[in-house]
Amino acid sequence: MTDELAPPDRLLLGAGPSPVPESVLAALAQPTIGHLDPAFGALMDDTIERLRRVMVTGNRVTLAVSGTGSAGMETMVVNFVVPGERVVCGVNGLFGERMADELTRNGAVVARVEAPWGRAIEPERLTAALDDGAAALFVVHGETSTGVCQPLDGLAEACREHDALLLVDCVTSLAGHRIEIDRMGIDVAFSGTQKCLNCPPGLAPFTVGPRALERLNARTGACRSWYFDLRAILTYWREDAAGALPRAYHHTAPINMVYALRESLRIVLEEGLDARWERHRRAHEALRRALAALGLERLAPAQEALSSLLAVIVPDGVDEAAARRSLLLEHGIEISGGVGPLAGRVWRIGVMGGGAAFDPQRRLVQALAQVLGADPADPISRLEQGWS
Ligand SMILES: *Cc1c(COP(=O)(O)O)cnc(C)c1O
Repeated sequence: MTDELAPPDRLLLGAGPSPVPESVLAALAQPTIGHLDPAFGALMDDTIERLRRVMVTGNRVTLAVSGTGSAGMETMVVNFVVPGERVVCGVNGLFGERMADELTRNGAVVARVEAPWGRAIEPERLTAALDDGAAALFVVHGETSTGVCQPLDGLAEACREHDALLLVDCVTSLAGHRIEIDRMGIDVAFSGTQKCLNCPPGLAPFTVGPRALERLNARTGACRSWYFDLRAILTYWREDAAGALPRAYHHTAPINMVYALRESLRIVLEEGLDARWERHRRAHEALRRALAALGLERLAPAQEALSSLLAVIVPDGVDEAAARRSLLLEHGIEISGGVGPLAGRVWRIGVMGGGAAFDPQRRLVQALAQVLGADPADPISRLEQGWS
């Protein structure tokens, strides 16, 4: 079979999707079976169990929502925020902005707590905003638009004092930067498959803690979304349905994507979370030092840097779009440009799963030096030092 539109070979070092390993592609290519087949049920149970371990949670309600990361965001809002409720929303980048939009469209009264793009929000300012009363506090843990990691210090305690839920976007931090759902007191979190899990896009890992579950069960009236109605979805996605009630059809699960997610979670657990977080931290730092030798400085301050995404400032005089285009078309390497106020000003480089390794980083540094007309020797030697 020849297809002139077959996807080219690319090294994905942008803001996602990230490199997908062969074994995940092979899992995806396994035979499709029925969504009510007990064999698929067993596979779902095992996927839930792995997801719990990767999210470091004992939450019984842990599942994969059908859809990309944004579907996880929407599931969070339509199930845990009632129109008219006040919600504190941290906004310091594209994804906080997206959440504020999502909340507003769903009738919430949004109290924005902002920081400049490229900086974290002081946790004290977020907790102070709870004093006027709030049903929930939302933050993006890993802001992919800026490469900033939001500290969660004190947020869980303040939320409990104010009877508010702590809602967190961990799309880019999960499996790439330390995040532990239970220990950090997070009530509801969602992620995506195509960042540090190295899976194709298409599912949103999702977890709900006891306080949030209580609130969900106490809700009266129908959820505003039919598709993302968690109580209905859980008649299908709940664990161990084999013994008690059989799984009931809600919508057809993306069967093959579940195979792929399960394999990608296996890879994460095989490495171990502590080792994986440390590898991402190290990969980020090695690349940062190498790129600094090319005159590319990190946007985020050191103590606020997100391991899994490195955003660097493009020097004056460089045509950033042209440079990215030649990286892609001449070297087969994808990195991302800036968005919003950072459009044209930064490059965003993914340090995600298989991309957080010496070989892909060496290819990038080599190619970037060539595109910028610089000598690669010093940056490559700094990269080597960072990995040795
Ligand atoms: C990628 C991303 C999303 C959105 O996920 P999609 O898969 O693009 O829908 C949400 N939040 C963050 C932090 C992300 O990086």
